[in-house]
Amino acid sequence: MNDVTLRLYEANAYLREFDTRILSCEPADGRYAVILDQTAFYPEGGGQPADQGMLGGQPVLDVRERPEGLVHLLRDPLTTGSVVHGAIDWDIRFARMQHHSGEHIVSGLVKQRHGFDNVGFHMGREAVTMDFNGVLDDVALEEVERLANQVIYQNVPVEAAYPVESDLSNLDYRSKKALEGTIRIVSIPGADLCACCGTHVRHTGEIGIIRFVKAEKYKGGTRITMLCGAWAWQEARTQAQRVQAIATGLSTSADNVVQAVERMKAELAAANKQNQELKHQVWIYESVQAKPINGWLIRFEDDLSADDLRQCCQLFGQKTGRAIILSAKDTAGREEAPGEYRYAMYSTDESLRAVNQSFLQRFTGKGGGHASLYQGTITGIKNEIEAFFSSQR
Ligand SMILES: [Zn+2]
Repeated sequence: MNDVTLRLYEANAYLREFDTRILSCEPADGRYAVILDQTAFYPEGGGQPADQGMLGGQPVLDVRERPEGLVHLLRDPLTTGSVVHGAIDWDIRFARMQHHSGEHIVSGLVKQRHGFDNVGFHMGREAVTMDFNGVLDDVALEEVERLANQVIYQNVPVEAAYPVESDLSNLDYRSKKALEGTIRIVSIPGADLCACCGTHVRHTGEIGIIRFVKAEKYKGGTRITMLCGAWAWQEARTQAQRVQAIATGLSTSADNVVQAVERMKAELAAANKQNQELKHQVWIYESVQAKPINGWLIRFEDDLSADDLRQCCQLFGQKTGRAIILSAKDTAGREEAPGEYRYAMYSTDESLRAVNQSFLQRFTGKGGGHASLYQGTITGIKNEIEAFFSSQR
């Protein structure tokens, strides 16, 4: 790592603006890579993205650690030797400081209580994810989240120090990789001690709140999606609005929305059952008057379950001798354009094997069966399917 640039964010993460001298400015892949004598721009690293902001009147496109030093990428060149003004986008930076400190608290607590390591940390535009190499169940997650928020209420100082090597060997700190040289240790009393070069809040109270918005199994461990501060508040507000919208739609209060949804599910299940019974009644009635064409009863239905399709087919087949029932998921344009159908065919004389084979060849499908009943899926046009069966014997 280079030493030519003084990294102002290491000593003061709250510095928003600064003046600096341009040490070099070189073309780099259609942009300009600028090295400064000092900067408040944090480069991408340790899970924390690069700062955004302005430098010398231009937006900073990216800030990266490169072999030649800490470079700021700009669209237009700046004059080497000149002094320019820099300003970081503070809203984004502060949100990242809140999330980075929040991540340390959570990772420290998970290590303390469960012995799992943080093996992945990603700070996106809308949320932060942390990957742990062990499974955290709902009870463990709730406890870690609660304890992490207690560390916020206690408003303890977050401090960075550079211990000498003899002191460092006595410290039990978290570290993702073996480190050499001067090591920056970020401490959060009661929660965490970690080697880190990122930017942090001064006191845990500034994090505001830690909310786990999602937890999922990931590579044999657990991935937690976390929100802190304003991002957490915004998310909670959006969720509350969603719940209220559902409650309004169900003509109930937000407090009663779960019971209202349960009731609606039960009503829907009863209505579906009744609908199915009525459908069967209609099939029984219609099968009595069904008129086969050339020995085949051909019938198109909409979106039948596999069970219903089979029952419908047997019902008509038993009345008429032979039946083919087709059920389409998407009925739009099926008169003209090929659609995908599930089918069932039934014959009282158990001789469908050859018909099923030529049907699958003609309409590209797959399916099988035995004796009197065959089932499968095909792709075809309604009129052509009707014509096919009208010409079968
Ligand atoms: Zn860190």
